[in-house]
Amino acid sequence: MYIVSSETFFLWKQKQIMKGGDDKSLNLLIDSLGGLSKKELSLLKIKSEKWIPLKINLELLESFWDKHLISSIPIQYLSGISYWRDLKLEVSKKVLIPRPETELIIEIISTKFKNKREKITFVDLGTGSGAISIALALANPKWDGIATDIDKNALEIALRNFTANSNQSNLKFYHGNWWDPLKDFKSKIDLAVANPPYIPENTYKELPIEVKNFEPKNALLGGEDGLDHIKEIVQYAPSYLKEKGWLLIENHFDQGAKVKELFIKNRFTDVEVLKDLSGIGRFTIGRYK
Ligand code: GLN
Repeated sequence: MYIVSSETFFLWKQKQIMKGGDDKSLNLLIDSLGGLSKKELSLLKIKSEKWIPLKINLELLESFWDKHLISSIPIQYLSGISYWRDLKLEVSKKVLIPRPETELIIEIISTKFKNKREKITFVDLGTGSGAISIALALANPKWDGIATDIDKNALEIALRNFTANSNQSNLKFYHGNWWDPLKDFKSKIDLAVANPPYIPENTYKELPIEVKNFEPKNALLGGEDGLDHIKEIVQYAPSYLKEKGWLLIENHFDQGAKVKELFIKNRFTDVEVLKDLSGIGRFTIGRYK
């Protein structure tokens, strides 16, 4: 533990932001590496304590900030921590940093499954850090969940995240591509969720370097039109879903209409494209027959 005076700390912070970057990233760095939360930080501004405890010294904290400024590496990969909903998740370059827009999936699902005592089986295809599957398993202790991923490293991270965030045992982890590891669950799934790679090839090339140079390509790129993986998931879903089972897929900002069409073509009903908090048709949801 390191103690610095609040005067030293705020001068240090001022110096860092003069070098570049944005306040949000700097606050995240101070939180995830320095151990001083955003809330504590804003309280300090109102009611200045003379001394501030930090997990690492200011020089080391500054060297992380410099690394971020020079290479554009996301703060989450520097600290190995990402906050998502009320979860603190371990992340590495093997998994996508879970995005705020994806948080809404949990609310959407709770509006579709109002009976909290109902016992269902859900699957999160391509779980990455485990964000969606862990949040669903925690919010619904009666549900049985399965999280799959093609990357074994990602699955290990997801499993650690589940153990670190809960003492429940209602989530299992299976290794493989999309539905492949679920051969024993044909016609047994009540709800399938996926945030698959959906970025079109040309868009991928133009992504900011903090994404393109650091986040896993196989978690972002969805082929030429971005729909390769979404097509595969929708196409095979009918073999795995129960009758009236739900499928929810996150898609790119302009893919809603096309994904809806795919759902309908594969005999889904009640198909809707739901908006994220920026008003973008981000989630396509439907029931199998
Ligand atoms: N929303 C992510 C991004 O814009 C993409 C996630 C994905 O491809 N599933 O970087």
